[in-house]
Amino acid sequence: MNPISQLKKKLPSPLRRLADLAYNYWWSWTPDRMSLFSIIEPTVWQNCYHNPVALLEAVSYERLSQVAENPDYLKRLQVLANHFDAYMRERSTWGRRVAPHLTPEEPVAYFCMEYGIHESLYTYCGGLGVLAGDYLKSASDLGVPMVGVGLLYKQGYVCQRLNRSGWQEDFYRDNDFEHMPLELVRDEYGQPVTVKVTVRQRTVRVQVWKARIGRVDLYLLDADRPDNDPIDRKLTGQLYGGNRETRLAQQILLGIGGVQVLHTLEIEPSVYHINEGSSAFALLEVVRLEMEYAGSTFDEAQRWVRDRSVFTTHTPVPDGNNAFSADMMDSFFGHYWPQLELEREEFLNLGARRIGDPWEPFSLSVLALRMTRQANAVSQRHGKVSREMWQILYPDKAEEEVPIGYVTNGAHLSSWTAPLLVDLYSQHLGKNWSQLHMNTTDIWTHVELHLASKEIWQNVNAIPERELWRRHCILKERLIAYARSQVLASRLERKEAKDDIMAVERLLDPNVLTLGFARRFSPYKRGALIFKDLQRAIRIFSNARRPIQIIFAGKARPGDDEGKRIIQRLMEWCRHPALRDRVAFIEDYDLFTAKLMVHGVDVWLNTPRRPTEACGTSGQKAAFNGVINLSIGDGWWCEGHQPGRAGQPSNGWTIGEEVDTSDQEHQDQIDADSLYTLLEREIAPLFYERDRHGIPHKWIAMMKASIRTNAPNFNSDRMVAEYVMRAYLDDLSRPLPLKAGHVA
Ligand SMILES: *Cc1c(COP(=O)(O)O)cnc(C)c1O
Repeated sequence: MNPISQLKKKLPSPLRRLADLAYNYWWSWTPDRMSLFSIIEPTVWQNCYHNPVALLEAVSYERLSQVAENPDYLKRLQVLANHFDAYMRERSTWGRRVAPHLTPEEPVAYFCMEYGIHESLYTYCGGLGVLAGDYLKSASDLGVPMVGVGLLYKQGYVCQRLNRSGWQEDFYRDNDFEHMPLELVRDEYGQPVTVKVTVRQRTVRVQVWKARIGRVDLYLLDADRPDNDPIDRKLTGQLYGGNRETRLAQQILLGIGGVQVLHTLEIEPSVYHINEGSSAFALLEVVRLEMEYAGSTFDEAQRWVRDRSVFTTHTPVPDGNNAFSADMMDSFFGHYWPQLELEREEFLNLGARRIGDPWEPFSLSVLALRMTRQANAVSQRHGKVSREMWQILYPDKAEEEVPIGYVTNGAHLSSWTAPLLVDLYSQHLGKNWSQLHMNTTDIWTHVELHLASKEIWQNVNAIPERELWRRHCILKERLIAYARSQVLASRLERKEAKDDIMAVERLLDPNVLTLGFARRFSPYKRGALIFKDLQRAIRIFSNARRPIQIIFAGKARPGDDEGKRIIQRLMEWCRHPALRDRVAFIEDYDLFTAKLMVHGVDVWLNTPRRPTEACGTSGQKAAFNGVINLSIGDGWWCEGHQPGRAGQPSNGWTIGEEVDTSDQEHQDQIDADSLYTLLEREIAPLFYERDRHGIPHKWIAMMKASIRTNAPNFNSDRMVAEYVMRAYLDDLSRPLPLKAGHVA
């Protein structure tokens, strides 16, 4: 019996449908999700990281029976279950109409190392994973047949705890797959489906778990089986943990194991989408299978695979992490290239930037660029950076002819828009505000996919200012209450002095202009730029009439001491007498904290070193909620920022200008200066300019511009639709061409 039926059996019969919802993450982005599960037992809900399966298993039968007697709740559940059934059964989807060759049996296979679907499924680290999660959700909403392939990590990504000296201590929490919204995939005899992958001359058996993401199935591979060598069981232990060998082994499991799993499940993808180089070994395994089944040569099989494969590159630097020495390749692939009927040299050349150079590491990005029919970067500027970076692979092409285009990333509207605002948008933009609106009869002339939905977003203008402001203030108060409770918990955990613990009550003020900065603490993101000139920052933050405060969150990668030092400095400022009520750091950043932050701050701060932010998506999520972006001109913001024009307010601010990216200190100084000047001269005055009811009209006009201009462009439906039309269509003469374009 599958786990959904098992869970149903444990529930009072009026609540049975809850099991279907608990096992499909669709619930997490439907507008009526509010308190659906939490109301059953709020503390349990909190303690189980919002995992509905664990909740329903933990709650007493008495409590469930009480809920089962609440007519209002049952009515809500009924409506939601009907809604879910209709969603799952819908046949006339956008995907069906535009790409009928994609079917559940021959879908797009999307490969990625990490997936950020929901906080209860800790298989993500940051931007790449959340993007992949949003991608699957939009594919589901658009009805584009797709399966996701990834790894299921026993311990997920690292957790963060800051000690008394502000240093990040890494630790891990075990996932309990049996009590998560996951189903172990079994064969007709009830045995787990497994595939065998050779890693370092040993056979590793991998089992598969399925997570349901609306209409999309996500298959996650798991090596933690008793019949594996104890060392191999740990291969799927941690995301981005371990050494280079572990990383290579994981990439082999993901790519080669992933293709094996699809083959075993009789899924025959029409398209293979390699999302970031780390899954590129999949391409080799598809070639191997094709040679085996069609009896073709390597060259024939490679052409066949190339015709159905697409690559998205996410890094703006040549991949240090995904490139391996010839020695390592020998030890992991010595058995493999003969199966491709290749000599060692020929095999190594597939991943070499310079063919024939024995010192070239084997790069998965190079492999992916060579073996896919189309490659895309993740923003217009990143496209240019990528063409420059990879020109070396195309010696007879000028830089602008390098065949790497771009599709700018987007975030999933329904997941990232606060339900309080969803309700407002439904009232003023129409019930289907979050759906992609595109006239399918003339999609081939609609190069700009968002044209139609732009009109809908014009109606943001009609939202009453007071109502938008009122809801924004509620979201901000919620965030501040959450930040205080998290900071309090951290201080208690560190056994800080009583005065410091009590001081949490004074931390952050809902009336004060609030900035948010939350993302990975990598040095290139310059998380401490705002405190570059400490005295000036203090003057700005503690200005008596126009104060400012900031909330930080984010982890450094386990080995990244430079990133950890940035966090340590931020923690010093959290304790600085002049700043301590104005600076908060929320520990252990995750999807839940991310949601509260992009819902509730006034301004979203982004300060990467140019041009290293390939796209960045957190500012897009913030914009959906009327938060205004204050960002360096890099990544998506090069496309997103619209300066004010006659009668039209701007939709945010661009910090500094690119002067000399090779002199980092000088560039940091220029950017920090510009940031301070913007805060002093423009941002704070605008925020504190109020009418007699306390309403900041000009500020709200910018909030509306932020929503109106960004939401129709930088959402993941537009992104997936663009991939369908540019990259997934079967007849290559039909798709819209590769989009290159240049950044002025
Ligand atoms: C969106 C998101 C990110 C990525 O943010 P960037 O601005 O792209 O760095 C990282 N972590 C979480 C939890 C997110 O939700």
